[in-house]
Amino acid sequence: MKYVRCILELQPLQPATDIFIAALADLGFESFEETQKGLKAYIQEPEWDETAFLDIPYLNSELWKVNHRWEVVAPENWNAVWERDYTPITVREQCMVRAPFHPEPGGDIPYDIVISPKMSFGTGHHQTTRLMLDYLLDLPMADKSVLDVGTGTGVLAILCGMQGAKTITAIDIDPWSYENAMENARRNRQDMIEVLQGSMGCVSGREFDVVLANINKNALVELMPELASALTGGGSLIISGFYRNDLAHLKGVAASDGLDFCSCRESDSWTAANFSKKVGTA
Ligand code: SAH
Repeated sequence: MKYVRCILELQPLQPATDIFIAALADLGFESFEETQKGLKAYIQEPEWDETAFLDIPYLNSELWKVNHRWEVVAPENWNAVWERDYTPITVREQCMVRAPFHPEPGGDIPYDIVISPKMSFGTGHHQTTRLMLDYLLDLPMADKSVLDVGTGTGVLAILCGMQGAKTITAIDIDPWSYENAMENARRNRQDMIEVLQGSMGCVSGREFDVVLANINKNALVELMPELASALTGGGSLIISGFYRNDLAHLKGVAASDGLDFCSCRESDSWTAANFSKKVGTA
């Protein structure tokens, strides 16, 4: 999968940087790198919409100056960037996510996840991945069936497997992620994870105790009816990939699909939320 990298020079840096991160996340940008001059933001090439980008009103603000350009990043470059910048992360001293070339952690970390990210999203470096891992650490997994929508590297599905979930299905529309999630599942001896390429259509009619979806606000809004109907009564939906300001909207959409809001967690304004499906709802 190729990416488009948008390079923004912002003067002054704040609050423009935060405002652009939020606006670009709404357009489907997946990752952001703050630089000395502004921001680099990445979006999958098929999602890139030049007109929508140029329509961002903040490009013409009187409060700051913006220079912008964009370029297509070949998968090889993307890969190199990940490998260069990839350091292990640890969530609550319980779960480490690291690359194959990092040393194993000492004995006190129960979940040691090895990820070779290639071109997929999900190394634990993004706040939303860490928020999802944080939620999973609190969830009893034994005997649970899990669906991971937008699995990326497979990192969330792999933790569920290590925590003893009964069955795990991981889906992603991106062919790179499909290949990469399968490879990482094997690498972490979680071969029981069923990896499928596609969106919710590939699990239609099936129900799960836990549904995970770390994608983006627009995709979550669009997929919410299908996410809700893929849950058993009493099951949990955990979502992320959106900002604090979008939580109210997502809560409303979830409520109209029969989901009760339980809690939310935040990191740098990125938010994750947990919903439960009413028992006896279709
Ligand atoms: N679950 C990982 C990766 C999240 S990135 C983590 O938490 O870190 C979001 C992923 O969702 C991307 O790999 C993207 O290809 C996938 N995606 C986007 N829209 C989707 C859809 N409608 N159905 C399935 N996957 C989708």
